[in-house]
Amino acid sequence: MQNSLIIQHARKFGSVAEMARLRRSLQGRVAVVTASTDGIGFSIAQRLAVDGAHVVVSSRKQKNVDTAVEKLKTEGLSVSGVVCHVGKKEDRERLIGNTVAEFGGFDILISNAAVNPDPGRLMNCTEAVWDKIFNVNVKSSFFLAKEAIPHMEKRGKASVVFVSSLMGYIPNYAKDVLGAYPLSKTALLGLTKLMALELGPRGVRVNCICPGLIETRFGEAITKDERAIKFMKHNCPLQRNGQPEEMAGLASFLASDDSSYITGENIVAAGGLQSAL
Ligand code: NAP
Repeated sequence: MQNSLIIQHARKFGSVAEMARLRRSLQGRVAVVTASTDGIGFSIAQRLAVDGAHVVVSSRKQKNVDTAVEKLKTEGLSVSGVVCHVGKKEDRERLIGNTVAEFGGFDILISNAAVNPDPGRLMNCTEAVWDKIFNVNVKSSFFLAKEAIPHMEKRGKASVVFVSSLMGYIPNYAKDVLGAYPLSKTALLGLTKLMALELGPRGVRVNCICPGLIETRFGEAITKDERAIKFMKHNCPLQRNGQPEEMAGLASFLASDDSSYITGENIVAAGGLQSAL
């Protein structure tokens, strides 16, 4: 659109800035983001709020929730916070219940929480570690979405976004390093496909982001390892690790009407690293 046309159009809104504000892709939406007080989740929460959504920030620790909410509010963003350990049913119920009580429902669920309590060799994985990984990373992702969907679908724009990993495609690449964690991420790829199939007729979209190596607290055991640095230099087309903010635009896109004909997709954001199941 030519400049003069933009200005004419903007007159209807009062100003270009007001037009930009009102036309933000997530204006009027409410989003819940799990594990969003740090790393990728925090960046996603920040971006969804910049794009116009009210964002409910959450993680296990009240102190972390308070700090993240405070920081985002200082930036002028519309956010609130609820403590939620995704592995605890009563916490998930509180997260959904508080959001529904305040907003009548919500439109966007970003299911981002994951753990890897004991990295190492798969064959050393104990039953307790396996259960913890699959409980938080897979079971809680499914049940949070299942519990949330009745409160999302009636608003007509429901979008669920899971956070898997490039490693979900190539669990054999993580030999000796990540234990059973990549297998839980492979499960999320399938969960995305099946949930999208069942929920498509109800107007609910389900997609998934698969980050590569991202510089966060969770990723630092690997991002700071000399072998990984060398590997990225020689094998990653962009020759570097990713930043949490580089996952946020994709999450916002998948949450918005710009992706209204996309569902059941696992989208890799990994600097060009090869993904193949
Ligand atoms: P991170 O920077 O370490 O952030 C972890 C966040 O999760 C914190 O806000 C933490 O806050 C919260 N958290 C931890 N356990 C939780 C639980 N059980 N319930 C709710 N919140 C919990 O992690 P990240 O690297 O951003 O990872 C985010 C997602 O990206 C994960 O699904 C991870 O598997 C995926 N991923 C990461 C990478 C990478 O290289 N970093 C690559 C591929 C995929 P509290 O301590 O307050 O709970």
